[in-house]
Amino acid sequence: MKIIDGNKVAITIKEKLSEEIIILKEQGLIPGLAVVIVGKNPASLAYVNSKEKACKKLGIYSERHDLDDSISEEELLHLIHQLNGKESIHGILVQLPLPKHIDTSKVIEAIHPKKDVDGFHPLNVGKVFSGMEGLKPCTPYGIIKLLEFYSIDISGKHTVILGRSNIVGKPAAALLLQKNATVTVCHSKTEGLTEILKTADIVVAAIGQAMFVKKEMIKEGAVVIDVGINRVDDRLVGDVDFEAIKDIASYITPVPGGVGPMTIAMLMYNTVQASKNQFFDAN
Ligand code: NDP
Repeated sequence: MKIIDGNKVAITIKEKLSEEIIILKEQGLIPGLAVVIVGKNPASLAYVNSKEKACKKLGIYSERHDLDDSISEEELLHLIHQLNGKESIHGILVQLPLPKHIDTSKVIEAIHPKKDVDGFHPLNVGKVFSGMEGLKPCTPYGIIKLLEFYSIDISGKHTVILGRSNIVGKPAAALLLQKNATVTVCHSKTEGLTEILKTADIVVAAIGQAMFVKKEMIKEGAVVIDVGINRVDDRLVGDVDFEAIKDIASYITPVPGGVGPMTIAMLMYNTVQASKNQFFDAN
């Protein structure tokens, strides 16, 4: 068994980015990210803080918009339109979830596709599913980078994704399919889940249920990627029973320290990518 070290891979990606940013700055481009957060959800605040910290460390300009959760949808959309027009901002991230009175789809669609560094805009979603170049959602993209870093074969492998959300499960399926995996997507209505999982060469667990995936669901030698982040008794655990599975998996990601750091690294990557697309297209 080998533990996939997400922190190490994320550092490698960020080191390359920081070298690239130095060169971009010499060419007159400072990548810029705007982070918008509505309300004071502690988990969201923690994510936003780490994103800001990563920007600072890499030399990416970042600005943060902390909005009260009583803000109207109209006011939020107005801010996004302003950020769409701002030259120093190349990426816009609206931290989800949003309060119930705001239509999340409307907000995502308001972000200019070129500035959509989360890769959630329908245009970018369509590109991911069509295998076209575009901004890819950070978490699934991070999973691909992890597999590639460890030279794990994807092509032809039966990959079972647990979870079909728009931010993880579905785009992970599209990206892995693009890499020639044979993909099965499971969800809460799936029948015979254990039997399906048992046939998987690669498992991607993204359901948000602490330690749901048990040893008896995993084939000996499978690669196990745990996306889940669940707080149990003040400690973070994944969707996978790591201790029980680590001895039968060929590779496994820990929580924390697996997929999590990759999400932030790929956000930085997307911001630099978006900035180059906008700057060099305009010059
Ligand atoms: P969602 O709640 O949006 O989606 C959960 C999915 O899991 C749904 O498709 C649901 O099925 C499915 N599901 C739930 N319970 C079961 C079950 N018992 N059996 C089979 N399928 C089930 O979650 P997200 O995709 O947003 O997040 C998933 C997890 O990943 C969370 O723990 C989240 O915190 C974490 N996460 C981690 C990130 C990182 O950077 N590491 C980034 C993003 C998320 P159905 O559609 O039928 O309801």
